[in-house]
Amino acid sequence: MSLFLSSVNTKCRPRSSSPLTFVDSIDIPWYCRLNHALESTHQAALAWGGDSWDLADAKKKAYASSVLQEKLKYLSAYELNAALIDIMKQLAVDPSPVVPDGSPFQMLRTSAIKAMRTSGLIEFGAHTHTHAILSQLSFEEQRREIGRSLEEVEELTGERCAFFAYPNGHAEDYDEKSLLVLKAAGVEAALTTLPGPNETTTPLLELRRYPVGANVNLATFQLMVHHCLYDYRKTVNFRLAV
Ligand SMILES: [Zn+2]
Repeated sequence: MSLFLSSVNTKCRPRSSSPLTFVDSIDIPWYCRLNHALESTHQAALAWGGDSWDLADAKKKAYASSVLQEKLKYLSAYELNAALIDIMKQLAVDPSPVVPDGSPFQMLRTSAIKAMRTSGLIEFGAHTHTHAILSQLSFEEQRREIGRSLEEVEELTGERCAFFAYPNGHAEDYDEKSLLVLKAAGVEAALTTLPGPNETTTPLLELRRYPVGANVNLATFQLMVHHCLYDYRKTVNFRLAV
């Protein structure tokens, strides 16, 4: 099993002594701030950016979170932070919450990473420094994002990092520049979020994979790993297109 790490604190608050700011810190990334806010709000609804969401129960909050994340993830770090503060104001929650020890929103500890690595069951890959959408960046910016995340994963695990996963991972989220940077950095394999089987002809820097969330039961998982759902959807889309 592979885990992919992004490490930066986009709020730049000096709350961690480690240069790997999220790991070992009490800070959380933006999507965790959003989920934490939605979980802790007492408001029954949210109106923001011309849309509104019912927040009556956990399922409705989860739906609001997924739509909001899609809206927010393409914003610059500055715009994103401003949008989050605005949403938290609407939700009447603290914009800088302290996440208590043991909270599901808390970031990994170095000790946990080392324990997982020494178990031999889990390896760690890089996922950019700020979880940036690479295709929106220049070559030099991509080089910094990828290079720094590789270095940080190597520092955390004490071994060479040869694997990478593209943030968001759709075809439009990385480009030729990303592939060049990864190749030059000696990355052996990189994962997209494009579904489908990996054939011998699939480029190693554009491997396919399926998202397995908490809502995926064993039967669905079996259909996924045998590519049945993928084949079914491909057939349906083909029939709809002709
Ligand atoms: Zn990600």
